[in-house]
Amino acid sequence: MRLRLTLLLLLPFWSAAAQEPPRIVGGPGAGCIAGAVELPPEGPGYETIRRSHSWFWGYPSVISALELLAQRAQAAGLPTLYMNDISRPHGGPTAGLHASHMLGLDADVWLDLHLKPTLTPAQRDALQVDSLVAPDGRGVDPGRWTPAHALLLRMATELPGVDRVLVNPAIKKQLCLETIGNRSWLHLIRPWYGHSAHMHIHFRCPPGQPECRDQPPPPPGDGCDASLDWWFAQLDKPAPPVAPARPPKLPAACAAILQQSPSPGRG
Ligand SMILES: [Zn+2]
Repeated sequence: MRLRLTLLLLLPFWSAAAQEPPRIVGGPGAGCIAGAVELPPEGPGYETIRRSHSWFWGYPSVISALELLAQRAQAAGLPTLYMNDISRPHGGPTAGLHASHMLGLDADVWLDLHLKPTLTPAQRDALQVDSLVAPDGRGVDPGRWTPAHALLLRMATELPGVDRVLVNPAIKKQLCLETIGNRSWLHLIRPWYGHSAHMHIHFRCPPGQPECRDQPPPPPGDGCDASLDWWFAQLDKPAPPVAPARPPKLPAACAAILQQSPSPGRG
C-alpha cells in the first residue's frame, strides 16, 4: 500500500518532466537539447552496448528512427544491431567523442552483422567490434565485408529525417564499386575519418526547431568521384599535426538547459 501511494505521489512529477517539449539549441560542434528521450537498453532488432561510457539520449523522432532501423533490419533478416553513443541527457560536449553528438541528432550504429551471442552485462559493456577496413586503409577487408553491410547502410540513408551517414572512405569506396541500379542513396553516405567499424547517422534539425542550425547538405551526386579519391591520396602523405582541441562555445541558452535534471527514461 505504501509503495502504491509513493508511486501515485511520484506520477505527476514524472509525467510533468516527460512532457517537456523538445528544444534543440545550436548546430554541429556546439549545442544542447532539452526534452530528449532515452533509447531503451534493448528493443526489437537491437541491443545497446558500452553503456557505462555511452549516452543514449536523443530527439524523440531520432530515437524513433533508430528503433525503426532496427525493426527494418530485423524484418530483412539481418542480425541484431549494436547501438551506442547518441547524446547526453541534455546534449552538449561529451568527453572523448568528436565534436558532434551534442544535439540529440547523432547516433553510432555498429557495422557488426554477426549473429549475436548472449553476453553478460560486463561483456556487453566492454565490447569491441572489429574493423571492416583492410589494414592499409585502401579498401574493405574482403573477409569481413558482406552484401548485408551495404543493405544496412542503405537502410540508414532511408530513415526519416536523416541528413547523412558517415563511414570510413574505404567503406564508401566499396559501396561505389558494388552498387548497381539505384545509386541515389550513395549521396548521403559520406566519407570521414575513423568509422571503420560503425556508422555515424546524423539527422537534420527537426521541423519546428528554429534555434537548431543544420550544416550544409552533402554536395550533389553520388560522391564516387575526385572528392573520394582525395581521402586515399592523404594516406600517402605524412599525418598533419593535430590541432589542440578547443572547448566548444555553446549558445547562451545552453547554460540553463545543461543544468536541468534529466527527463525520466521510458522504462
Ligand atoms: Zn558518432
